[in-house]
Amino acid sequence: MPELPEVQTIVDGLNSKIVNKTISAIIEKKMGTIIWKENLNICEFGKILNVSRRGKFIIIETSKKLKIIIHLRMTGKLIYEEDISKTSSHSRTEFIFSDNTKMIFDCVRTFGKIWILRKDYRFAPIEKLGVEPLDKLFNDPYLKKQIQHKKIPIKKLILEQQIIAGLGNIYACEILFRAKIHPEKLGIEVTNKETELLVKETKSVLIQALEKNGTTISDYRNVDNKTGEFQNFLKVYQKEFCECGNKISRIKQSGRSTFFCGKCQK
Ligand SMILES: [Zn+2]
Repeated sequence: MPELPEVQTIVDGLNSKIVNKTISAIIEKKMGTIIWKENLNICEFGKILNVSRRGKFIIIETSKKLKIIIHLRMTGKLIYEEDISKTSSHSRTEFIFSDNTKMIFDCVRTFGKIWILRKDYRFAPIEKLGVEPLDKLFNDPYLKKQIQHKKIPIKKLILEQQIIAGLGNIYACEILFRAKIHPEKLGIEVTNKETELLVKETKSVLIQALEKNGTTISDYRNVDNKTGEFQNFLKVYQKEFCECGNKISRIKQSGRSTFFCGKCQK
């Protein structure tokens, strides 16, 4: 699933490709992909002004005071295509621009969604998000406050989008490994020193992954349909052995696989 570094890489790509283009048509190839909160005519879209990110949501603003919000979920991709005659194998929606280019929303497993809203619409899933991990508001006192009374495993806590917006399973495993914290340790048991390390490693892993244009395990591609490179720098996720020589453990937490080293993470 695309997480913060992958979504940000896509947002950066879209900002360089689609800003100032005018939407001339939206073709919904699979019904139900778009959730229309407005009764709109295509001429109400106007030009694309800006593309941004909040958590794992992509926000596209247009000159006609509309916003298009996209969540890629498990397998969604946004592919920019210069040649309007081209499509992709799992194209669900296509945004056609007036200069005969397009942006394809491709999604194998069809969980990805697009919402079309007025600019001032308060979109609850975004309103509820916690802080951005690369923002200075994500710091030791903030994280301490969020986890200190919780009898919930730390892995689960750092995945809660209401606490940290944008983290997903791959980076959560990698961050806990680098901070040397066992994923089943409860929030209440995490020490001040460990909280400090968690904040530091969260920022450092995300920055490195951004520099490598994200992680491609299977589906993730950037807007040029190219893979990321951070998969080459993973330490525990889908690995067999740790750098220390110990075998990597794999457990299920809330239905998702957690990878960790029982020797390095306490
Ligand atoms: Zn180890």
